[in-house]
Amino acid sequence: MKKTAKVLALLLSMAMTMSALTACGNDTAATDTQADAAADTEAADTQTDAADTEAADTQTDAAADAEAADAETDAADTGAVATIQDGVLTFGTNPEFPPFEFVAANGVIDQYDGIDMAIAKQIAEENGMTAAIESMEFDSLLIALQNGQIDAVIAGMTVTDERKEAVDFSVPYYTATQVMIVKEDSDIAKASDMADKKICVVQGYTGETCVSDMGYDYEAFKKGTEAVLELVNGKCDVVVIDSATAQKYVDDNEGLKIVEDPDAFDSEEYAIAVQKGNTQLLDMINSAIEAKLADGTISALSAQYLDAEE
Ligand code: GLN
Repeated sequence: MKKTAKVLALLLSMAMTMSALTACGNDTAATDTQADAAADTEAADTQTDAADTEAADTQTDAAADAEAADAETDAADTGAVATIQDGVLTFGTNPEFPPFEFVAANGVIDQYDGIDMAIAKQIAEENGMTAAIESMEFDSLLIALQNGQIDAVIAGMTVTDERKEAVDFSVPYYTATQVMIVKEDSDIAKASDMADKKICVVQGYTGETCVSDMGYDYEAFKKGTEAVLELVNGKCDVVVIDSATAQKYVDDNEGLKIVEDPDAFDSEEYAIAVQKGNTQLLDMINSAIEAKLADGTISALSAQYLDAEE
């Protein structure tokens, strides 16, 4: 089984390397688009192949919970830090990102609620474990993962080449894009209209990378709510942030609208991060995500939390 896991890990890492995801587009991206699309298709094929291999293996392999039980020892064998203790799978998140993670009176894991929290709970429980959440700044998540303070990161986190150097990502579970939130009467209709405007982003989010890559000045806030408040108060003209979260803020605040610009902002994929080399945990998470994508669990959760009042 270890050999199978290694082969699978290799296939997955090949697939991930080939799908060189960029956080956002830029003005010179037009000519690159076709090549990117071809590469993406190829990567998608490889991922499907890897998934097929995994599906076939899963049937012949031992039961899923036996595999989970093996995870600690095998991870230790391969030099990865085994961090799962006492059957508690600890996820790090930054609960400032509705509808994926936010604090609520009755959350699915303690006071934490949202699409990601529901997914985390299911992954743990389906594998005979309990899910726990460690709340921290978004910027600290990957460091905490590398230090072994948490087992995995689930935080609406976009897969980027830079982050892939530090951690391993699961198969993606959600596709998003950056959008612009503006006042209803704003004349901003495309990304280049932001050139002479005051732009707000959230520190460490891919939205910050996008605006920075476009060469525009911006102000970075610690939380999405702070950036949106700045916009509502007329102190900034536009907030660049992930699409589903933007929708939540627009629903919750009068007088705002979303402006999309697919030519300027590429699609992004959210995935769960684990320590580099922790293939046992990654395999477990990948199997769970693939099953939840296939049976509609994730789209049902997305619909439920996008419609829900916080
Ligand atoms: N998807 C964005 C990123 O990965 C924002 C994620 C978040 O704030 N939780 O940077």
